[in-house]
Amino acid sequence: METLRARLGDRLLPGEPLARYTAARLGGPADWLYIARQSTDELVEVVTTAWEQAIPVRVLGGGANVLVSDAGVRGLVVINRVNEVTFGEWHEGRNVAVTSGVGLTVLAHKCQARGLAGMEWAVSVPGTLGGAVVNNAGAHGGDMARVVRDVVVLDAERGPKLMTRADMDYGYRHSCLKARSDRRFLVLMALLALEPDDPQAIQARMQSYIAYRKQTQPPGASLGSIFKNPPGDYAGRLIEAAGLKGYRVGAAQVSPVHANFFINTGQALADDYYQLIRLVQQRVEQESGIRLEPEVELLGFEDH
Ligand SMILES: Cc1cc2nc3c(=O)[nH]c(=O)nc-3n(C[C@H](O)[C@H](O)[C@H](O)COP(=O)(O)OP(=O)(O)OC[C@H]3O[C@@H](n4cnc5c(N)ncnc54)[C@H](O)[C@@H]3O)c2cc1C
Repeated sequence: METLRARLGDRLLPGEPLARYTAARLGGPADWLYIARQSTDELVEVVTTAWEQAIPVRVLGGGANVLVSDAGVRGLVVINRVNEVTFGEWHEGRNVAVTSGVGLTVLAHKCQARGLAGMEWAVSVPGTLGGAVVNNAGAHGGDMARVVRDVVVLDAERGPKLMTRADMDYGYRHSCLKARSDRRFLVLMALLALEPDDPQAIQARMQSYIAYRKQTQPPGASLGSIFKNPPGDYAGRLIEAAGLKGYRVGAAQVSPVHANFFINTGQALADDYYQLIRLVQQRVEQESGIRLEPEVELLGFEDH
């Protein structure tokens, strides 16, 4: 850590609670935390140095799809806020080049203002482009797989690489990057191919998505959908059918509004969430024979 400490000074934070950086406001300390705000160059330099020194690195965007344990995360956690959006006409189309720390909501609004359709589904999805590229985030019939043209990825072993949409092997909340357990890669930016459309029509779609969410999803800090929908069914329906709507472990509760959301009713621990996830998984499997697969990623838990 000495090299990084010399390079970053007091921007390398020891023992910083990750609850401050996750959408659910859960999670214990990172051994070391660095917030990348300045430039992609600095982000690359810090991550590469850590890789070279065999320090475990975890890059987070909005922390909107991770359940971080109360024990926290060992090594270096990087919070990616590198924020650049460039519009242009490349590859015979209207495209946008986006660095991975750009927030999805901000990006949706910028594209709308330019009269470019394709990202409006993301208007109320928390997190960054980097997390969305890895997870193939999507909503309201849209997803990253439909708009990504190329992704620039830095690989710890192989260096920088341009991955096409086909290389990403996108599926429902899946990509080849998400499937990698080593996590020794960094998404730097993506080029998105968008379609020209009337800004007011895009705006109207965005407003209807926001209104739909307000109606169907509980407010406040959460982890979003806890489980993926199994083929041909809905995780929320299965959880409700197992009689678990409103069920609690500690201060974590299966939302009475939407059973695939677990809400923090007070000072929930990450462990409350973890126990609730396991319990719901078991009960749903007993009732329906279907084993729900978590959509959220578990970080810093012993069996992960
Ligand atoms: C209230 C709520 C509603 C939600 N609704 C939706 C929804 O409708 N649709 C949907 O798909 N998701 C939804 N989510 C989940 C979440 O918003 C998405 O998965 C989002 O893409 C996560 O982005 P992030 O930047 O927060 O990723 P993080 O949670 O920070 O990270 C997710 C994974 O990506 C990795 N990662 C992130 N950035 C990089 C990078 N630059 N390089 C390498 N790896 C990286 C992380 O290491 C981690 O493995 C919701 C979440 C919440 C809390």
